[in-house]
Amino acid sequence: MRRLRRATAALTIALALLLMPGCGKEGSPPAKGPRAGQLPTYKVDTAFRLPASPTWRRAKRRGHLTVGVKEDQPYLGERDPATGRYSGFDIEIARMMSASLGFDPRTIRFQTIASANRETALQSGQIDYYVGTYTINPLRKRLVGFAGPYFMAGQSLLVRTDENDIHGPADLAGRTVCSVAGSTPLQRIQSDYPKAHAVAYDTYSVCVDNLLSFQVDAVTTDNTILLGYAAKAPNELKVVGRPFSKEPYGIGVPKRDNALRFALDDAIRTHERNGNWKKAYNATLGLSGVPAPQPPPVDRYRTD
Ligand code: GLU
Repeated sequence: MRRLRRATAALTIALALLLMPGCGKEGSPPAKGPRAGQLPTYKVDTAFRLPASPTWRRAKRRGHLTVGVKEDQPYLGERDPATGRYSGFDIEIARMMSASLGFDPRTIRFQTIASANRETALQSGQIDYYVGTYTINPLRKRLVGFAGPYFMAGQSLLVRTDENDIHGPADLAGRTVCSVAGSTPLQRIQSDYPKAHAVAYDTYSVCVDNLLSFQVDAVTTDNTILLGYAAKAPNELKVVGRPFSKEPYGIGVPKRDNALRFALDDAIRTHERNGNWKKAYNATLGLSGVPAPQPPPVDRYRTD
Protein backbone atom coordinates (compact mmCIF):
# COMPACT_ATOMS: atom_id res chain seq x y z
CA MET A 1 0.00 0.00 0.00
CA ARG A 2 2.80 2.37 1.00
CA ARG A 3 4.57 1.43 -2.19
CA LEU A 4 1.49 2.15 -4.24
CA ARG A 5 1.06 5.54 -2.60
CA ARG A 6 4.70 6.33 -3.24
CA ALA A 7 4.41 5.29 -6.87
CA THR A 8 1.29 7.44 -7.32
CA ALA A 9 2.99 10.42 -5.68
CA ALA A 10 6.06 9.96 -7.88
CA LEU A 11 3.91 9.73 -10.99
CA THR A 12 2.03 12.90 -10.10
CA ILE A 13 5.28 14.78 -9.54
CA ALA A 14 6.83 13.43 -12.71
CA LEU A 15 3.76 14.52 -14.66
CA ALA A 16 3.87 17.96 -13.05
CA LEU A 17 7.53 18.32 -14.00
CA LEU A 18 6.84 17.15 -17.54
CA LEU A 19 4.15 19.76 -17.97
CA MET A 20 6.22 22.47 -16.35
CA PRO A 21 8.27 23.99 -19.17
CA GLY A 22 6.22 26.61 -20.92
CA CYS A 23 3.25 26.54 -18.56
CA GLY A 24 3.12 27.53 -14.95
CA LYS A 25 0.34 27.11 -12.38
CA GLU A 26 -3.08 26.79 -13.94
CA GLY A 27 -1.89 27.47 -17.44
CA SER A 28 -0.36 30.87 -16.71
CA PRO A 29 3.10 31.67 -18.09
CA PRO A 30 5.94 30.50 -15.82
CA ALA A 31 6.33 32.66 -12.71
CA LYS A 32 10.08 32.25 -12.97
CA GLY A 33 12.19 31.50 -16.00
CA PRO A 34 14.33 33.41 -18.45
CA ARG A 35 12.20 35.69 -20.62
CA ALA A 36 13.77 36.55 -23.95
CA GLY A 37 12.79 40.24 -23.73
CA GLN A 38 14.94 40.82 -20.66
CA LEU A 39 18.06 39.29 -22.10
CA PRO A 40 20.85 41.64 -23.17
CA THR A 41 21.95 41.80 -26.79
CA TYR A 42 25.65 41.71 -27.50
CA LYS A 43 27.35 43.94 -30.04
CA VAL A 44 29.17 41.87 -32.66
CA ASP A 45 32.81 42.91 -33.08
CA THR A 46 32.81 42.69 -36.87
CA ALA A 47 36.42 43.89 -37.15
CA PHE A 48 37.70 41.09 -34.89
CA ARG A 49 40.41 38.80 -36.36
CA LEU A 50 42.28 35.94 -34.71
CA PRO A 51 44.51 34.36 -37.37
CA ALA A 52 46.68 32.71 -34.69
CA SER A 53 43.76 30.48 -33.66
CA PRO A 54 43.16 27.41 -35.84
CA THR A 55 39.72 27.00 -34.23
CA TRP A 56 38.71 30.57 -35.11
CA ARG A 57 40.04 30.27 -38.68
CA ARG A 58 38.08 27.07 -39.24
CA ALA A 59 34.89 28.62 -37.83
CA LYS A 60 35.37 31.68 -40.06
CA ARG A 61 35.64 29.47 -43.17
CA ARG A 62 32.57 27.55 -42.06
CA GLY A 63 30.67 30.77 -41.31
CA HIS A 64 29.47 29.92 -37.79
CA LEU A 65 30.60 28.73 -34.38
CA THR A 66 29.69 25.32 -32.95
CA VAL A 67 29.37 25.48 -29.18
CA GLY A 68 28.97 22.57 -26.74
CA VAL A 69 26.44 23.09 -23.93
CA LYS A 70 24.01 21.34 -21.58
CA GLU A 71 20.29 21.09 -22.31
CA ASP A 72 18.69 19.97 -19.05
CA GLN A 73 20.07 22.40 -16.47
CA PRO A 74 17.41 25.02 -15.58
CA TYR A 75 18.59 28.67 -15.79
CA LEU A 76 22.05 27.50 -16.97
CA GLY A 77 21.70 25.53 -20.18
CA GLU A 78 18.20 24.46 -21.13
CA ARG A 79 16.72 23.43 -24.46
CA ASP A 80 13.05 24.02 -25.13
CA PRO A 81 11.94 20.75 -26.75
CA ALA A 82 9.12 22.53 -28.62
CA THR A 83 11.29 25.17 -30.33
CA GLY A 84 14.78 23.69 -30.02
CA ARG A 85 15.93 27.01 -28.55
CA TYR A 86 18.57 27.08 -25.84
CA SER A 87 18.49 29.45 -22.85
CA GLY A 88 20.29 30.07 -19.56
CA PHE A 89 23.35 31.75 -18.09
CA ASP A 90 25.87 29.47 -19.83
CA ILE A 91 24.07 30.04 -23.12
CA GLU A 92 24.37 33.81 -22.58
CA ILE A 93 28.09 33.44 -21.83
CA ALA A 94 28.43 31.46 -25.09
CA ARG A 95 26.62 34.28 -26.96
CA MET A 96 28.79 37.03 -25.43
CA MET A 97 31.90 35.12 -26.48
CA SER A 98 30.54 34.67 -29.99
CA ALA A 99 29.88 38.42 -30.36
CA SER A 100 33.42 39.21 -29.19
CA LEU A 101 34.89 36.72 -31.67
CA GLY A 102 33.07 38.45 -34.52
CA PHE A 103 30.23 35.95 -35.00
CA ASP A 104 26.56 36.96 -34.71
CA PRO A 105 25.28 34.99 -31.68
CA ARG A 106 22.15 34.07 -33.67
CA THR A 107 24.30 31.92 -35.95
CA ILE A 108 25.73 29.71 -33.16
CA ARG A 109 25.02 26.00 -33.60
CA PHE A 110 24.58 24.61 -30.10
CA GLN A 111 25.34 20.96 -29.45
CA THR A 112 24.33 19.17 -26.28
CA ILE A 113 27.34 17.37 -24.83
CA ALA A 114 27.18 15.35 -21.58
CA SER A 115 29.77 15.87 -18.83
CA ALA A 116 31.66 12.67 -19.66
CA ASN A 117 32.11 13.62 -23.34
CA ARG A 118 33.38 17.20 -23.06
CA GLU A 119 37.09 16.51 -23.42
CA THR A 120 36.71 14.25 -26.47
CA ALA A 121 34.33 16.73 -28.13
CA LEU A 122 36.99 19.45 -27.78
CA GLN A 123 39.85 17.18 -28.79
CA SER A 124 38.12 15.90 -31.92
CA GLY A 125 37.10 19.37 -33.13
CA GLN A 126 33.39 18.49 -32.89
CA ILE A 127 32.88 21.83 -31.08
CA ASP A 128 34.82 25.11 -31.05
CA TYR A 129 34.30 25.80 -27.37
CA TYR A 130 32.22 24.49 -24.47
CA VAL A 131 30.13 26.42 -21.95
CA GLY A 132 28.29 24.15 -19.51
CA THR A 133 29.04 24.20 -15.76
CA TYR A 134 32.54 23.00 -16.62
CA THR A 135 34.86 23.03 -13.58
CA ILE A 136 38.47 24.02 -14.21
CA ASN A 137 40.86 21.57 -12.57
CA PRO A 138 44.45 20.39 -13.10
CA LEU A 139 43.44 16.95 -14.41
CA ARG A 140 41.21 18.40 -17.11
CA LYS A 141 43.80 21.06 -17.94
CA ARG A 142 46.01 18.25 -19.20
CA LEU A 143 43.39 17.46 -21.84
CA VAL A 144 41.80 20.82 -22.73
CA GLY A 145 42.34 24.55 -22.21
CA PHE A 146 40.13 26.76 -20.03
CA ALA A 147 39.28 30.43 -20.38
CA GLY A 148 37.92 32.02 -17.23
CA PRO A 149 36.73 31.31 -14.62
CA TYR A 150 33.51 33.25 -15.26
CA PHE A 151 31.61 31.92 -12.22
CA MET A 152 32.28 30.18 -8.90
CA ALA A 153 29.93 27.35 -7.87
CA GLY A 154 30.17 24.77 -5.07
CA GLN A 155 29.04 21.18 -4.61
CA SER A 156 25.74 20.72 -2.75
CA LEU A 157 22.93 18.25 -2.14
CA LEU A 158 19.36 18.09 -3.43
CA VAL A 159 16.77 16.03 -1.54
CA ARG A 160 12.98 15.66 -1.45
CA THR A 161 11.18 18.11 0.83
CA ASP A 162 10.05 15.15 3.00
CA GLU A 163 13.69 14.25 3.77
CA ASN A 164 14.80 15.36 7.25
CA ASP A 165 17.98 13.36 7.85
CA ILE A 166 20.33 14.65 5.16
CA HIS A 167 21.99 18.00 5.88
CA GLY A 168 25.46 17.45 4.45
CA PRO A 169 27.63 14.85 2.71
CA ALA A 170 28.46 13.05 5.99
CA ASP A 171 24.75 12.13 6.32
CA LEU A 172 24.91 10.16 3.08
CA ALA A 173 26.45 7.10 4.79
CA GLY A 174 24.27 4.11 3.88
CA ARG A 175 22.08 6.26 1.59
CA THR A 176 21.93 6.31 -2.21
CA VAL A 177 23.16 9.45 -3.95
CA CYS A 178 22.98 10.16 -7.67
CA SER A 179 25.41 12.15 -9.79
CA VAL A 180 26.77 12.24 -13.33
CA ALA A 181 29.53 10.19 -14.93
CA GLY A 182 32.69 12.18 -15.59
CA SER A 183 31.74 14.96 -13.14
CA THR A 184 33.81 16.35 -10.26
CA PRO A 185 30.95 15.95 -7.70
CA LEU A 186 30.72 12.21 -8.42
CA GLN A 187 34.48 11.82 -7.98
CA ARG A 188 34.41 13.77 -4.71
CA ILE A 189 31.60 11.66 -3.21
CA GLN A 190 33.36 8.44 -4.23
CA SER A 191 36.73 9.49 -2.83
CA ASP A 192 35.77 11.51 0.28
CA TYR A 193 32.50 9.83 1.33
CA PRO A 194 32.96 6.13 0.53
CA LYS A 195 30.12 5.11 2.87
CA ALA A 196 27.62 6.77 0.56
CA HIS A 197 26.19 4.54 -2.15
CA ALA A 198 26.90 6.54 -5.31
CA VAL A 199 25.11 5.85 -8.60
CA ALA A 200 25.91 7.62 -11.87
CA TYR A 201 23.91 8.55 -14.97
CA ASP A 202 24.66 10.70 -18.03
CA THR A 203 22.58 13.70 -16.95
CA TYR A 204 21.37 15.38 -13.77
CA SER A 205 17.76 15.41 -14.97
CA VAL A 206 17.77 11.59 -14.86
CA CYS A 207 19.11 11.82 -11.29
CA VAL A 208 16.27 14.22 -10.40
CA ASP A 209 13.69 11.83 -11.93
CA ASN A 210 15.18 9.08 -9.76
CA LEU A 211 14.98 11.29 -6.69
CA LEU A 212 11.32 12.10 -7.35
CA SER A 213 10.48 8.43 -7.87
CA PHE A 214 12.24 7.38 -4.63
CA GLN A 215 14.97 5.42 -6.43
CA VAL A 216 17.70 7.54 -4.78
CA ASP A 217 17.86 9.62 -1.57
CA ALA A 218 19.82 12.61 -2.87
CA VAL A 219 21.36 14.19 -5.95
CA THR A 220 24.76 15.83 -5.73
CA THR A 221 26.37 18.37 -8.02
CA ASP A 222 26.95 22.14 -8.14
CA ASN A 223 24.59 24.35 -6.11
CA THR A 224 23.80 26.36 -9.29
CA ILE A 225 22.34 23.29 -11.01
CA LEU A 226 20.50 22.00 -7.93
CA LEU A 227 18.98 25.40 -7.09
CA GLY A 228 17.53 25.48 -10.59
CA TYR A 229 15.76 22.13 -10.15
CA ALA A 230 14.54 23.16 -6.68
CA ALA A 231 13.21 26.48 -8.01
CA LYS A 232 11.22 24.60 -10.66
CA ALA A 233 9.66 22.19 -8.12
CA PRO A 234 9.75 23.98 -4.73
CA ASN A 235 7.08 21.72 -3.19
CA GLU A 236 8.99 18.55 -4.01
CA LEU A 237 12.69 19.45 -3.86
CA LYS A 238 15.08 21.38 -1.60
CA VAL A 239 18.81 22.11 -1.52
CA VAL A 240 20.34 21.35 1.89
CA GLY A 241 23.52 22.30 3.75
CA ARG A 242 26.40 24.46 2.64
CA PRO A 243 28.45 24.04 -0.52
CA PHE A 244 31.40 21.74 0.24
CA SER A 245 33.74 22.41 -2.71
CA LYS A 246 34.83 25.14 -5.07
CA GLU A 247 33.81 24.68 -8.71
CA PRO A 248 35.26 27.48 -10.86
CA TYR A 249 33.47 27.45 -14.24
CA GLY A 250 35.63 27.78 -17.32
CA ILE A 251 35.05 27.85 -21.06
CA GLY A 252 36.62 24.70 -22.51
CA VAL A 253 38.75 25.16 -25.64
CA PRO A 254 41.01 22.84 -27.64
CA LYS A 255 44.17 22.36 -25.58
CA ARG A 256 46.75 23.87 -27.90
CA ASP A 257 44.66 26.85 -29.00
CA ASN A 258 46.09 29.43 -26.60
CA ALA A 259 45.15 32.28 -28.94
CA LEU A 260 41.48 31.38 -28.61
CA ARG A 261 41.81 30.87 -24.85
CA PHE A 262 43.37 34.32 -24.31
CA ALA A 263 40.82 35.98 -26.61
CA LEU A 264 38.03 34.43 -24.52
CA ASP A 265 39.74 35.55 -21.28
CA ASP A 266 39.71 39.12 -22.67
CA ALA A 267 36.09 38.76 -23.77
CA ILE A 268 35.00 37.55 -20.31
CA ARG A 269 36.65 40.57 -18.70
CA THR A 270 35.07 42.94 -21.22
CA HIS A 271 31.54 41.62 -20.59
CA GLU A 272 32.04 41.64 -16.83
CA ARG A 273 33.09 45.29 -17.00
CA ASN A 274 30.43 46.51 -19.44
CA GLY A 275 27.59 45.09 -17.35
CA ASN A 276 26.53 42.31 -19.73
CA TRP A 277 27.61 39.56 -17.33
CA LYS A 278 25.40 40.92 -14.55
CA LYS A 279 22.43 41.59 -16.85
CA ALA A 280 22.69 38.06 -18.22
CA TYR A 281 22.95 36.59 -14.71
CA ASN A 282 19.89 38.51 -13.49
CA ALA A 283 17.83 37.35 -16.47
CA THR A 284 18.80 33.69 -16.04
CA LEU A 285 20.54 32.10 -13.05
CA GLY A 286 19.39 34.93 -10.77
CA LEU A 287 15.85 33.59 -11.19
CA SER A 288 16.72 30.53 -9.11
CA GLY A 289 16.95 32.84 -6.09
CA VAL A 290 20.58 33.89 -5.56
CA PRO A 291 21.52 37.54 -6.25
CA ALA A 292 24.45 38.19 -8.60
CA PRO A 293 27.79 37.58 -6.87
CA GLN A 294 31.12 39.16 -7.85
CA PRO A 295 32.61 37.04 -10.64
CA PRO A 296 35.95 35.42 -9.74
CA PRO A 297 39.13 36.89 -11.30
CA VAL A 298 40.07 35.51 -14.72
CA ASP A 299 43.12 33.23 -14.55
CA ARG A 300 45.13 33.87 -17.70
CA TYR A 301 47.48 30.95 -17.07
CA ARG A 302 50.59 30.16 -19.10
CA THR A 303 51.53 26.76 -20.43
CA ASP A 304 54.95 25.71 -21.63
N1 GLU B 1 30.99 21.45 -12.38
C1 GLU B 1 31.03 20.02 -12.26
C2 GLU B 1 31.87 19.39 -13.35
O1 GLU B 1 32.35 20.06 -14.22
C3 GLU B 1 29.66 19.41 -12.21
C4 GLU B 1 28.69 19.88 -13.25
C5 GLU B 1 28.79 19.13 -14.55
O2 GLU B 1 28.85 17.88 -14.54
O3 GLU B 1 28.76 19.78 -15.59
O4 GLU B 1 32.10 18.21 -13.33
